Formats: sequence, C-alpha cells, structure tokens
Amino acid sequence: MSKDVPFNCSCGAVSGILRDIRPRSGGHLRCYCADCKQAAVWSGDVTPTPDGIHYYQTTPDRIDFIAGLADLRVFKWKEGRLLRWYAPCCGSPMFNTLDSPQWAFASINTERFNDPDALGPAIAYAFKPMPDGKSKTKGYGRFIIGFTRRTIWARISGAWRNTPFFEATGETITPIKQLTEQDRSGVRQPKPV
Ligand SMILES: [Zn+2]
Ligand SMILES: [Zn+2]
Repeated sequence: MSKDVPFNCSCGAVSGILRDIRPRSGGHLRCYCADCKQAAVWSGDVTPTPDGIHYYQTTPDRIDFIAGLADLRVFKWKEGRLLRWYAPCCGSPMFNTLDSPQWAFASINTERFNDPDALGPAIAYAFKPMPDGKSKTKGYGRFIIGFTRRTIWARISGAWRNTPFFEATGETITPIKQLTEQDRSGVRQPKPV
C-alpha cells in the first residue's frame, strides 16, 4: 500500500505532495547536529524543536510541488555537497538535497507535514547529546544502506532526472547562496537541549 502525503510551508504559499510512498521509499530520522539546528535558524525557524530536526529521506522523483516552487531559496551552510532549501515567505526549512541531480537524494523536514509522524516515527537519530557530554548516533547504518539502494536504483532507472530542484542542465533552479563564516556567526545559537 502506498501513501501520498501533502506538505506545505508554515504560511501555505509553498505546497506539494510526496507521492507513492511505500515502506522502502525512505525513512524518518532526527538529527541533533549544530549544522542542522543553525541552518533551521538561518532559514527563519526561530524555535527549532529541542527534539532534533526531523527528516524524512527519500528520492526527489517522489516530490511534486503544487505551488511556490519558484520561490524556494537554497543555500550551502558550509563547504560540502549538502544544499538546504527553504521557503522565504515564512522562513520554513523545507528540504535538503545534494548538489547534483545524479545523487537522487532529498530529505524533507517533517514539520512540513500536517502530522509530522505521517510516515511513521523516527527510527534513527544522529548526534544526540548524552548526559556525559558525548553524542550518540543510532540506526544510521540502515539509512546509509537505504540511501545507497535508492540512489543506485534512481541512477539505473533514470528516475534521477525527475527532480523539481534541478534544471535539465544540472543547475539548481535557483542560484545557490554560499554562506560565509560571517553569516554563520550572525546566527543566534539555538539553546542547547
Ligand atoms: Zn511560507
Ligand atoms: Zn544534522
């Protein structure tokens, strides 16, 4: 049985549907790392949940926009391949992708669903702070395996070409803003949890 799950930014100007989601289409995890928290704050989410940032990871061919796609903005928080897409209308963090369509990867911030657990509860977490001051990651191996399996499948089937985030030329639909150290230091540090 597959499921279609609607998503939207907080104000509703950007909306769409995740289509044909099955148990093997992706997975729900939460990340407690400072990069994710600070990127959410930079996008305009002034109160990221203390429970980590929740993502549902899948492939871009399952994402259909209904409205607002052209208004999305994208930035790179630091060097590396991860792109963070947000809705500037209301400052909602929306998606993460990699910087090439050939890597068929997209994760959606599950706060963009009416029910954040619409696709099941988080079954893995990364960089969770522990009472002893260290951090812990659990269940992440499964995500890497799932990511690899889905990406390879998308490459072989040609599904990687079906992405709302990139032009046929391989360029992102809107220019990538590379944030500087200055941008980064200007972000109010979210409270540690
Ligand atoms: Zn909005
Ligand atoms: Zn993170």
